[in-house]
Amino acid sequence: MRQYEIIILGAGAAGLMAASFLQDRDVLILEHNPYPAAKIKISGGGRCNISNRYLGLEKYLGDPRFIEKIFKRFDNESLLRFLNERGLEPVLRENGCYFCKKSSLELVELLLNETKKTPVEYGVEVEGLEKEGGCFAVRSSAGSFFARKVIVATGGLSYPSLGASSIGFKIAESFGHSIIKPRPALAGFTLQPEQFWMKELSGISTSAEISVGRRRFASDILFTHRGISGPSILDASLFWNRGKITIDFLPGIKLKNVFLSSRKSAAFQIPLPKRFVKTLFKTLDLPDMPYKKMDERDKQRLSCIKSYSFSPAGTFGYDRAEVTKGGISTSEIDPETMQSRLIEGLFFAGEVVDVTGLVGGYNFQWAFSSAVVAAKSV
Ligand SMILES: Cc1cc2nc3c(=O)[nH]c(=O)nc-3n(C[C@H](O)[C@H](O)[C@H](O)COP(=O)(O)OP(=O)(O)OC[C@H]3O[C@@H](n4cnc5c(N)ncnc54)[C@H](O)[C@@H]3O)c2cc1C
Repeated sequence: MRQYEIIILGAGAAGLMAASFLQDRDVLILEHNPYPAAKIKISGGGRCNISNRYLGLEKYLGDPRFIEKIFKRFDNESLLRFLNERGLEPVLRENGCYFCKKSSLELVELLLNETKKTPVEYGVEVEGLEKEGGCFAVRSSAGSFFARKVIVATGGLSYPSLGASSIGFKIAESFGHSIIKPRPALAGFTLQPEQFWMKELSGISTSAEISVGRRRFASDILFTHRGISGPSILDASLFWNRGKITIDFLPGIKLKNVFLSSRKSAAFQIPLPKRFVKTLFKTLDLPDMPYKKMDERDKQRLSCIKSYSFSPAGTFGYDRAEVTKGGISTSEIDPETMQSRLIEGLFFAGEVVDVTGLVGGYNFQWAFSSAVVAAKSV
């Protein structure tokens, strides 16, 4: 049977970018979806948030020294240059986010154009990987494919409906790699019964600051029928495993500056959506009266509007999580090459590795950067 020089597992962001840098090599891509780049297509509301102007190590969960080495070799500026040279000029939007101008398809088409000479076997389910002598055998639903080197770019577990699978972790484990427990991230939080009052606010969005441990995220929070979501909650979910989070529903506002009138009711003076205030007052059993007339116990309860602490029940899960945190431990991967330190010829790229970014284009940047490092070394 034909032996390829390199087989790339997965035609997602990392797999296609790796293939773009391997145009003159003998490469095969295996992909179980009938088409490539499923996540790029639907990402960023159909416009793909490709990267971010403010790329920084603090935007990632993972070993900062490892991540730094990858970005030293291919960072956001390198990515923009790569895209510009090929006619794609991303637009800069708020918070430093770079998006495709009109549609994610601009990026997909660019990557497909770069890889047009690379054969892709679609509809092939990768089931495992073995190494015999100096050669890898990829076991798949279409039989075995052979190569001297393999790049595992099969992503994480998020959005199984778009083709996510655990095969990357299984392959890494079968070669002795350690897996940092995968969990859904950049996902909304589900609630314990004590916080079900928030479900009554479904549809309301307001700005808030969320604290998880020492991390703080200030942006919008969105109440939904399942729990709470929105950019600040998605970011907070990256650093939350279990335990409490704290929400400041009046970020940047001191409570004493809210209740300036001694005659108007406290509820009336709170600068938050009326439905929110009404539901909060009902939940806390607070009287409809001016703040100054409230007794100390009521004032104390009302102060939770600045620091509402509770433990979420969990996250919305892999069905709704934008990414998977955890994954193949970076301690067993060489950051100079993205090659396994345990198995020669085995490379990893993208979300399958234990590096995860915040909302804002940081995850595609990681997928592309790690893929370029792998491709340049393979
Ligand atoms: C709804 C949504 C919106 C997002 N928006 C953004 C955004 O705007 N900006 C951002 O930075 N990040 C965003 N992300 C995250 C981003 O999509 C991922 O971090 C990124 O796609 C990871 O790239 P990857 O190549 O590692 O994995 P993927 O892009 O997931 O590619 C993995 C590929 O491997 C294939 N595969 C998996 N298992 C097998 C198997 N057994 N056999 C064969 N093929 C297999 C998959 O079908 C897929 O094509 C979003 C994610 C989601 C779900």
